[in-house]
Amino acid sequence: MAEFSLELNEDQLQLQKWVHDFSEGVVRPAAAEWDEREETPWPIIQEAANIGLYSFEFFFNAFGDSTGLTLPLVTEELFWGDAGIGLAIFGSALAVAGITAGGTPDQVAEWVPQCFGSPDDPKVAAYAVSEADAGSDVSALRTRAVYHEATDEWVLNGTKTWITNGGIADVHVVVASVDSELRSRGQATFVIPPNTPGLSQGSKFKKHGIRASHTAEVVLDDVRLPGRMLLGGKEKLDARLARAREGKSSRKQGAMSTFEASRPMVGAQALGVARAAYEYALDYAKERVQFGRPIIMNQAIAFKLADMRTEIDAARLLVWRAAWMARAGKPFEAGEGSMSKLKAGEVAVRATEEAIQILGGSGYVREHPVERWSRDAKIFTIFEGTSEIQRLVIARAISGMRIV
Ligand SMILES: Cc1cc2nc3c(=O)[nH]c(=O)nc-3n(C[C@H](O)[C@H](O)[C@H](O)COP(=O)(O)OP(=O)(O)OC[C@H]3O[C@@H](n4cnc5c(N)ncnc54)[C@H](O)[C@@H]3O)c2cc1C
Repeated sequence: MAEFSLELNEDQLQLQKWVHDFSEGVVRPAAAEWDEREETPWPIIQEAANIGLYSFEFFFNAFGDSTGLTLPLVTEELFWGDAGIGLAIFGSALAVAGITAGGTPDQVAEWVPQCFGSPDDPKVAAYAVSEADAGSDVSALRTRAVYHEATDEWVLNGTKTWITNGGIADVHVVVASVDSELRSRGQATFVIPPNTPGLSQGSKFKKHGIRASHTAEVVLDDVRLPGRMLLGGKEKLDARLARAREGKSSRKQGAMSTFEASRPMVGAQALGVARAAYEYALDYAKERVQFGRPIIMNQAIAFKLADMRTEIDAARLLVWRAAWMARAGKPFEAGEGSMSKLKAGEVAVRATEEAIQILGGSGYVREHPVERWSRDAKIFTIFEGTSEIQRLVIARAISGMRIV
């Protein structure tokens, strides 16, 4: 019988400590400043690249880990330091997931390293799906990709919105419609290389939280791409479109399969923020004295902390399960990827709000980080599928019915 254990091995513990030290020593001290500046923290990305945390090789090895736990462990520790900076460093991972999910081995080898650049000259990447009229409803994309046989070129037109690293990325991975009648089954994913004419940044958004992470519109105006920039190649796309036109079902495509694979990682991001808030509130509650005793001596406060810890640990188990399943090639038959993101996202919102409550007035002002963590946590119930959409995925998976 196979042994079952949830204990981390030596390598995993070392990796966790390595990222924790970076988070504690470099990320957390810089967090308030970059939140105020609302700019991409390039010097911190560079430091992450210098130690090998932000690199093609690191991600390659992490994806190769047979337990599936490397990325959730590392992600939780980095986001424990700060979610905005964490996303500035790991935001490229979604583009990497998009290339890996749809690309040929040659395309993966060519484009994934370019998402990171080098330690001397780090780059970031963007994954652009969302549009003003196509957020939760990814099937409604208006961005069009038209093929010109004579020149073997694709021409893309449209506007993407709320794109992490949009416009500042070297590599943009863009999902567009090639046959709008087929809705999501008529979509394809393209790599747009650095300095491609026709791609520009639209408005940059001023946000509620994760303000060190850049979010902007991406405008595509007659962007011409050689045929080889279509992920997976034209032959595969044509075969898929033909199947869809005949009404045959096909595997989940592009955006949805990328999001499914990345959801446990978003769950791990949320866990980092939730744990930061819990630890801070626990320390504070032991120190802060009112009515002649530490406030943690009141059950009202101690039970909040007990609930926070219980919920965080439960969320982590869901994240680890989904990450292990994804690595082991087990299908998410009950929407387990969505469960992990749903639970961890909602736990982060609740834990950071409770942390403010435990700190009282000190929690509401910027002298303490829980105010920022609470603003940061909210994104986890919104991006990469809102909480409602995660529930929809789970409900459809467990019922086998097309619940709306
Ligand atoms: C900071 C930030 C970074 C982002 N980064 C990226 C990125 O890098 N790439 C990218 O492509 N996108 C990105 N997004 C977009 C993000 O994925 C979308 O905002 C998200 O999917 C929700 O879409 P929406 O905002 O249009 O909301 P809507 O779809 O308009 O939803 C509004 C509300 O209606 C609810 N709702 C919608 N449909 C249903 C339904 N069928 N049943 C029940 N409730 C429903 C939603 O849950 C939500 O509460 C980012 C967004 C933000 C804010």
